[in-house]
Amino acid sequence: MIKRTLAEIQDMSGGEGLAQSFETIEIDGISTDSRSIRKGSLFVPITGDNFNGHRFADKALAEGAAAILWAKNEHNPPQDVPVIYVDDTLAALQMLAKTYKEQLNVKVAGVTGSNGKTTTKDLLASALSASFKVHKTQGNFNNHIGLPLTLLAMPEDTEAVVLEMGMSSKGEIELLSKLARPDAAVITNIGESHMMDLGSREGIAEAKLEIAIGLKEEGTLYYFGDEPLLRERVPAVNRRTVTFGETDRNDLYPADFHQSESGVEFTVQPEGSRFSVPVLGKHNVWNALAAIAVARSFGLNDEMISKGLENLAMTAMRLELAKTERGWAVINDAYNASPTSMKAAIRLAEDLEGYSRRILILGDMLELGDREEAFHEETGEAITARSSYVFTYGKLGAFIAEGAKKNLQEDQIKSFLDKEKLIQAVKEFAQQGDLFLVKASRGMRLEEVVSALSE
Ligand code: ATP
Ligand code: MG
Repeated sequence: MIKRTLAEIQDMSGGEGLAQSFETIEIDGISTDSRSIRKGSLFVPITGDNFNGHRFADKALAEGAAAILWAKNEHNPPQDVPVIYVDDTLAALQMLAKTYKEQLNVKVAGVTGSNGKTTTKDLLASALSASFKVHKTQGNFNNHIGLPLTLLAMPEDTEAVVLEMGMSSKGEIELLSKLARPDAAVITNIGESHMMDLGSREGIAEAKLEIAIGLKEEGTLYYFGDEPLLRERVPAVNRRTVTFGETDRNDLYPADFHQSESGVEFTVQPEGSRFSVPVLGKHNVWNALAAIAVARSFGLNDEMISKGLENLAMTAMRLELAKTERGWAVINDAYNASPTSMKAAIRLAEDLEGYSRRILILGDMLELGDREEAFHEETGEAITARSSYVFTYGKLGAFIAEGAKKNLQEDQIKSFLDKEKLIQAVKEFAQQGDLFLVKASRGMRLEEVVSALSE
């Protein structure tokens, strides 16, 4: 966490007006949420459409904040306490974070993409920790507020930071990239999330490529090279690029892929070692290749990287495979869903060996825009005869069921609109030796099905 005197903070955030008597007070970290104030921290009130953090200044002080940042146009600043005045508290927070990062002199990696950001961030942080003191994005702190907070949370002795960069519209990644000035920028893939805001997959590709805008001159862009929309646009980027993916047209690609319940194994091509990584699914091989490529460029050799990757600490609720006492296994992927990630998860479930039946429980994928029905149907068409049954849930889920008819018989497909009925049916259906995949957008709350299966 950032520790600086208020005089330094004023300077670093472009603020003014701090009373001289407070200049030598040292703050310990930053708080933006009045519900969780860190003792001794600087409280930065953020103003959104429906809330104004300045209203909570007194509460923050009462709960132990040592000082306050204050927007000049807000009335009634607290009296007789340390206050630094700024034009805009969010911009000041971002500037403070940027300056702090520059003072620490850390290596920076930024990760964006439609799917796999968090996983790749975790993989890369794991790999790098074999040789650096690493800090990484926690939880969902991947936007214009979360990313500065992530930087400000770095301990003073941090050597490398791995940042997740999320977005829902144009311009957001540009801002994050300029703040972070990455040495390495990663685009994991282009999917269909945020189609509503960006209009098309082309629009999404362009928005993700904004990550190259803040990339250092001598930095490198790493991207999923099997995605034509990226390949076509990359010549305009004017930075060194490295590709990873499935095919041998990439700078890094895997050979001798093997998967078991404990994870994936593969050999990096064209030259490289064998890696064993505790994640499931072929898509995670691309994520791991991205991590390997960046870690190599930060000076690590394959042996160190492989050690780091084996110790992966994953963020919860992403492709967890749990064996239940009743003798069936459940892949819980109820955290989120898009057509790309759902197809990847289906492929994973179909690839796992040793199960008598593979049962897919798939719900609505939300926020896909005009073509949502077609996206669901296409996802259903990607289900092969290696799956034994498909249970869909929700109005859009019904289109997955429609698409599933391509490769499955009607009696292998069941469609539900009522979650209680779905849960009942699944509980009655489950048998020893089954593998279940449970996946939908978070808003569908399919973790309730996971809980029912785990009882
Ligand atoms: P969010 O936008 O919610 O932050 P994210 O980009 O951080 O998502 P992860 O949380 O790492 O992504 O993974 C989400 C899901 O996407 C995983 O459960 C997995 O099914 C799928 N996924 C991960 N990596 C890839 C990939 N490279 N290609 C396709 N699908 C992927
Ligand atoms: Mg994420």
